[in-house]
Amino acid sequence: MELLSPAGNLEKLQVAIDFGADAVYAGVKKFSLRERAGNFTIEELEKGINYAHSRNKKVYITLNSFLRDNELKEFRATVDTIATLKPDAFIVADPGALSIIRERTDIPVHISTQANVTNSETAKLYRRLGATRIVLARELSLKEIETIKKHAPEIEIEVFVHGAMCMAYSGRCLLSSFLAGRDPNRGSCAQSCRWKYYLMEENRKGELYPIEEDSKGTYIFNSKDLCALPVLEKLYKAGVDSVKIEGRVKSVYYVAVTTAVYRRAIDLLKNKPEKLKQELPELLAELDKVSHRPYTTGFLTENDDLQHYPTSSYIRKYKFLAIFKNGIWEVRNPFHVGDEVELFFSNGRAIKTKIMKIWKSKKNGEAIETAHPNFKVVVDFKNLSLSDKHNRAILRKRNI
Ligand code: SF4
Repeated sequence: MELLSPAGNLEKLQVAIDFGADAVYAGVKKFSLRERAGNFTIEELEKGINYAHSRNKKVYITLNSFLRDNELKEFRATVDTIATLKPDAFIVADPGALSIIRERTDIPVHISTQANVTNSETAKLYRRLGATRIVLARELSLKEIETIKKHAPEIEIEVFVHGAMCMAYSGRCLLSSFLAGRDPNRGSCAQSCRWKYYLMEENRKGELYPIEEDSKGTYIFNSKDLCALPVLEKLYKAGVDSVKIEGRVKSVYYVAVTTAVYRRAIDLLKNKPEKLKQELPELLAELDKVSHRPYTTGFLTENDDLQHYPTSSYIRKYKFLAIFKNGIWEVRNPFHVGDEVELFFSNGRAIKTKIMKIWKSKKNGEAIETAHPNFKVVVDFKNLSLSDKHNRAILRKRNI
């Protein structure tokens, strides 16, 4: 089972791979359904693909916008340019895009979750049309996924396991287009489903009746976030080929932690499945330390506990302070000598420690009391020595 992580930009691509992803998905500015994800220039994409391939990892390129005729020429040119970089697959939703790519290159094509594939006949049809993988609709249960895999073994199956969910069939929603002029099917959803709504009687124009659950209001369409870690073993046993983490607009910290946690879980499943049960509480606790809405196993377990009514805000228990690479900490948020902190490693493990000393740029360089954003620093921790062999790590602190 492959672990597929989001790569909103070049740094996130490298972090995802260094923290354990087998493959990443990335988009270019146009035709990728995440207009605000940062995305890649062609030069950055080339660097990212080289970075991944030199480590035997894969890069899939999302081109999953629904196309208009006046965009076809540019789409063909984009495909031709990206094909020269030899990515491992294109991800598309529009059957026309599949057809164009099949005519022009042998690079595999995956069918995006935006295509809403919910049964084995549709999966088989896409296989006949030249796709090699289906990213199933998020609205399916474990049982349905198992049935699709059984009846359409000729095509790979990819399933979302973590991240934000839509209250519509992924993106098939007009709320954001209508209320904000931002089209979810063209990558610019404003998440209008999570806004605060009122009730109005037709003869009392302008009189807004709050439909309150509490003083903050009611978020009637606000979906919880997906976390399929508790049922990962079932997906594995169902023969799912790839599990995907959502979040190309999420932070480097989110990418690092979610990737390392699912990596550890998959490795345990493959090698010591009985240990995964023991470690599950610890791994779930790690997922609790990234920014998220309350978690649910979503449609996978056919529960109806999918909406979160009290608020649409994220839960943020920890602050991301710095990321470690090649012996140096790159600082994102300030921290000080004496701070109680946590280190999170690419093996999915975390330890508590304290900051004893900070040097600017290099060990025994200028000693400083506070590390500020964009500083590159060396840090001494209590009872812990971090060497270059710790290729990657995250520094974080509990929010008070
Ligand atoms: S507004 Fe909400 S339901 Fe609609 S596409 Fe965006 S996230 Fe999905």
